[in-house]
Amino acid sequence: MNTISFYPFRCHICHERIKYKEFVYLDSLNTLIHQNCYHSETNMLEIKDGGMFKIIKRKYDFLKK
Ligand SMILES: [Zn+2]
Repeated sequence: MNTISFYPFRCHICHERIKYKEFVYLDSLNTLIHQNCYHSETNMLEIKDGGMFKIIKRKYDFLKK
């Protein structure tokens, strides 16, 4: 058993699990993507937040488990 497997959050672009220490963007539909996966052609809505995932996770109720 590996606690990583309980993280349900995946990047919308690469579909990899998002780890607590990775940097992410959150858009207005609450889509999460890695900042490394973001590029200008990425079809995201307005980005409303960004930062280390463990910080973002603390700020939004829908990310709490
Ligand atoms: Zn990604």
